[in-house]
Amino acid sequence: MIKPDAVENGHIGAILDKIAGAGFKIVAMKYTQLSKREAQEFYVVHKERPFFGELVGFMTRGPIVSAVLEKENAVEDFRALIGATNPADAAEGTIRKLFATDIAENAIHGSDSDENAKIEGAFHFSGREIY
Ligand code: ATP
Ligand code: MG
Repeated sequence: MIKPDAVENGHIGAILDKIAGAGFKIVAMKYTQLSKREAQEFYVVHKERPFFGELVGFMTRGPIVSAVLEKENAVEDFRALIGATNPADAAEGTIRKLFATDIAENAIHGSDSDENAKIEGAFHFSGREIY
């Protein structure tokens, strides 16, 4: 997902360009806005964290771009491309270093395992929307 901060700041095109340039194939994509219930479900693993309310408020405040990406070693390579959760710790040239504001508003989400990538793809897309 390209998160609401990056959409608001006009970074959709630049971020998609970085993703394509790193060799990822887009197999599904949509421009949409999460409801509160959907954001709570998507980030349910964080529901006991002190920042959960802030995270749900942020993720629902405007539209996002959701996508399913395909590549060899996709999860690990995409996490490397986006950089650390806190942009202050993110490596030079990563998407979060370039486009994130802070640890909360950090421009982009990436799945953290193949298993979660499958669950998250199915969260955003039906089978006929993935090519
Ligand atoms: P994501 O799951 O969005 O790709 P991540 O895996 O790098 O991010 P997580 O630990 O899963 O990081 O946290 C999920 C999201 O919750 C972060 O991307 C960020 O938007 C928000 N978040 C994490 N830590 C904090 C914090 N300390 N304060 C506020 N928001 C936070
Ligand atoms: Mg995460």
